[in-house]
Amino acid sequence: MQDVPLTVTRILMHGMTIHGTSLVTTWTGEAEPQRRSYREIGERSAQLAHALKDELGVRPDDRVATLMWNNAEHVEAYFAIPCMGSILHTLNLRLPAEQLAWIVGHAADKVVIVNGSLLPLLAPLLPHLSSVEHVVVSGPGDRSLLDGATPRVHEYEELLTGRPTRYDWPELDERAAAAMCYTSGTTGDPKGVVYSHRSIYLHSMQVNMSQSMGLTDADTSLVVVPQFHVNAWGLPHATLMTGVNMLMPDRFLQPGPLAEMIEAERPTHAAAVPTIWQGLAAELAAKPRDVSSLTQVTIGGSACPPSLMAEFDRLGMRVCHAWGMTETSPLGTIARPPAHAVGTDEEMAYRLTQGRFPSGVEARLAGPGGEYLPWDGTSAGELEVRGPWIAGAYYGGADGEPVRPDDKFSADGWLKTGDVGVITPDGFLTLTDRAKDVIKSGGEWISSVELENALMSHPDVAEAAVVAVPDEKWGERPLAAVVLKEGATAGFGALREFLAGSVAKWQLPERWALIESVPKTSVGKFDKKVLRRQYAEGGLD
Ligand code: ADP
Repeated sequence: MQDVPLTVTRILMHGMTIHGTSLVTTWTGEAEPQRRSYREIGERSAQLAHALKDELGVRPDDRVATLMWNNAEHVEAYFAIPCMGSILHTLNLRLPAEQLAWIVGHAADKVVIVNGSLLPLLAPLLPHLSSVEHVVVSGPGDRSLLDGATPRVHEYEELLTGRPTRYDWPELDERAAAAMCYTSGTTGDPKGVVYSHRSIYLHSMQVNMSQSMGLTDADTSLVVVPQFHVNAWGLPHATLMTGVNMLMPDRFLQPGPLAEMIEAERPTHAAAVPTIWQGLAAELAAKPRDVSSLTQVTIGGSACPPSLMAEFDRLGMRVCHAWGMTETSPLGTIARPPAHAVGTDEEMAYRLTQGRFPSGVEARLAGPGGEYLPWDGTSAGELEVRGPWIAGAYYGGADGEPVRPDDKFSADGWLKTGDVGVITPDGFLTLTDRAKDVIKSGGEWISSVELENALMSHPDVAEAAVVAVPDEKWGERPLAAVVLKEGATAGFGALREFLAGSVAKWQLPERWALIESVPKTSVGKFDKKVLRRQYAEGGLD
């Protein structure tokens, strides 16, 4: 067989020709969204690559960072930078400033492409970003914030104007780095994960399979999951392979504008973490809109509460639950029920699991003593995975060697996920907790996720997070922090009684706290670290 390298360039060339008329539509908050065909995206990617090379002196292997929302220009950067042989480094715009500065320094980024609306975040950081030689600004925003900046400042559109719309893309090694993303650093410094051309290509093919997202050129996908985190779950690459249209929300991520863009642009699919969908569900309850086009919703990043799945089913939006992490590109499992369960009582139980491992992802469960456990649906252990789109090491810095910390990689090279769960004989994964969130009470484990899901199925509860707090007798006990829906009155006693209907008595929390909202991480997940810090001294009884 011919040995044709699996590169991002091939995805781009396919997308801009075979699917040249498919569209990237970017919400502008004005009467008309911006629309750009895949052909135009390809031509503008060529123009951007010319500009980066000729005007900014970007060379192969240089890191070019983006600090951007989901929009057409970000898609152009997604292709121009890897296809010219350089490395796209997406920066998480919700990270604290000092972490961002650390990450840019560690990657030694040479250029930052930034949305104008994010200049208030970037401008004060620039004096600390010594590797950055150029800043390229795209879209509305106050340019005067960059007055006196040391790096050279360019306008994105001016850079592109007049440049050739074709680029003689180099033939690259499929194992070369194409893109990188840092984990959000829940412990210690953030860790850089480097995606290769090959890993992106193979991951995109899996995303497109009918048992994964399975979208076609008849679909429009509302890509809420940010391009700055794990390549927006691979959607910008996967869609160019199949001609799926993309609807990009830019900075309009609040429930109101999301509902508005669904009604106006009629996407058929959408992808995001549960917190986004909880917000949208509340918005639609308060102000109903025609969202009938949206029939498929991919939810991942944290466990999808059963109550949310049920509510979305009622709205006609069928949820497909998936699990993954920065290190897994991210598709690790996806919960499409097996054919024999469809239409039966078992179907919902399958849909609520984290899902089945797709071809390309191998899995095993490590027990407490390091032994590997059977896939029997009851033996719980730490999930380890390997495959062609699973990280084998972390980025070691511009001049460093890749690093493989023992707590993240097994001696034989599998990724230790830090997630604890069980696997059924037919390969469906159910996560019971993250290793660091599980509550260790008197030698038994209590799943914080199980308690949270049970609480969130109470009609008065908007959000609930359960964390471990130290306990003299038991070591740790659960504390439930609850956000009530507006006007709701349920007391802790009633909630505890409600929980008793679905969980064992010894697991019921004694400690409760009423909070206004659950703190969220930079990618919209419950930030239990903050809650633990707040309540480690004991919450409100
Ligand atoms: P971070 O580690 O900063 O949260 P990631 O986005 O890489 O960044 O998060 C990966 C983690 O998110 C997984 O290890 C897992 O704990 C959690 N996660 C992802 N998807 C799911 C899901 N469907 N159900 C439960 N947990 C999930």
